[in-house]
Amino acid sequence: MPAAEPEHTEKNIFTDAIKRLDSAAEYAQIELEAIERLKHPKAFIQVSIPVRMDDGSLRIFTGYRVRHDDTRGPTKGGIRYHPDVSLNEVKALALWMTCKCAVVGIPYGGGKGGIIVNPKELSPMELERLSRGFIGLIADFIGPDTDIPAPDVYTNARIMGWMMDEYSKIRRAYTPAVITGKPLSLGGSLGRDDATGRGAYYCIKELEKRRRWKPKDIRVAVQGFGNAGQHVAHLLHSDGYRIVAVSDSRGGIHRTQGFDIPSLIQIKNETRLVKAVYCDGSVCEAVESENVTNEQLLELDVDILIPAALENQITADNAPRIKAPVVIEVANGPITSDGDAVLNKKGTLVVPDILANAGGVTVSYFEWVQNRQGYYWQLEQVHQRLQEIMSREFHAIFDLMEEKKIDMRTAAYAHALRRIGQAIEASGTRRYFSNHSD
Ligand code: NAD
Repeated sequence: MPAAEPEHTEKNIFTDAIKRLDSAAEYAQIELEAIERLKHPKAFIQVSIPVRMDDGSLRIFTGYRVRHDDTRGPTKGGIRYHPDVSLNEVKALALWMTCKCAVVGIPYGGGKGGIIVNPKELSPMELERLSRGFIGLIADFIGPDTDIPAPDVYTNARIMGWMMDEYSKIRRAYTPAVITGKPLSLGGSLGRDDATGRGAYYCIKELEKRRRWKPKDIRVAVQGFGNAGQHVAHLLHSDGYRIVAVSDSRGGIHRTQGFDIPSLIQIKNETRLVKAVYCDGSVCEAVESENVTNEQLLELDVDILIPAALENQITADNAPRIKAPVVIEVANGPITSDGDAVLNKKGTLVVPDILANAGGVTVSYFEWVQNRQGYYWQLEQVHQRLQEIMSREFHAIFDLMEEKKIDMRTAAYAHALRRIGQAIEASGTRRYFSNHSD
């Protein structure tokens, strides 16, 4: 059987990511050579993973792990299973992780990994063999003090558990801190499941203070009713926000009066479908609503739009029709750079992904800390510490945006670059060495 070939066009997403660094650098008081360092990932590895399939045949899968920058600490970032994974994409995602960890001030650099695979075509046992095989090949590249993976697209807590177990076997030592996003019973952290949605929610609460919003007047549309989308919708709904539209990959529903989000979550868990219902206990009744496509959902007349599904949803094509004055990027990269330019021109406030969805990696950091301490926190501690970090960084970035009259994404990158720049400069740059050459 031939090796599995990567079936993707490699548009240079990494070059695009670098451009964003360049445009933020002028607001970051960072030396040019520090920016130059960030344009080159520290190290990456490509592996071929042989997997014995259930029918006895052998398939070879290609996997990558990139460590982008470890100046501020060990590299950190998820492992993605997707047919479109490419080295360039993994490099770009690793660079974003470097910036995201710096945005929230946690002591990590950025990393990322991926395997070119459609996991839906694999049986659970094939998936386990693939996951363990990958760790076997990258075991010398990762570690609790060097590079710490986590879940990403189409990987989950169970897979993290297999990976941790495989690493521990190789090292002959129980090593939960090598990976985060594990099941609770295998060293996971309380509060990791809703951390991404909750982090975005804390950002919205801070914006609420600045804008003096009354939650009941604020209409919210959420694209993507998965882990992150459901949690942010649920938290906002509990506070009285009106969630007027939600969607999944099959399409969405819209209702001006708003939906009862716990009912929508209940029916989604039972049927895997987004349905307009109100549930009283186990009895769910349909409520009036209109069906919308994902494209229509993005263009609804709402106060907050939350893309929480995929990248590249808002482009130069549809950006002129986006009516929401505030967009909270819960997904990674839901707005393309040309879409961004259109929204900025219109004055749309975009709370960027490297801040809005950083709650996930922040609680992953808490998980790693707990694993190393061997002492586990209460849920309230996780929430309180997450809220402190998200609120502090939200305001720091918002203030920088206002002070420099720039968009919030550029401010977030500049904020991150200041921290990374300080760390790089602490070990000496040209300015230091040319002043101390004799
Ligand atoms: P998920 O798989 O749980 O949910 C994704 C949802 O998007 C599903 O409901 C799916 O049906 C829907 N979807 C897929 N294609 C769609 C389309 N074309 N239009 C509308 N909806 C579509 O994933 P998740 O963990 O909630 O992640 C969502 C996004 O958030 C991703 O971009 C991910 O990178 C980002 N993110 C997640 C985390 C996390 O901790 N979960 C952390 C950081 C960033």
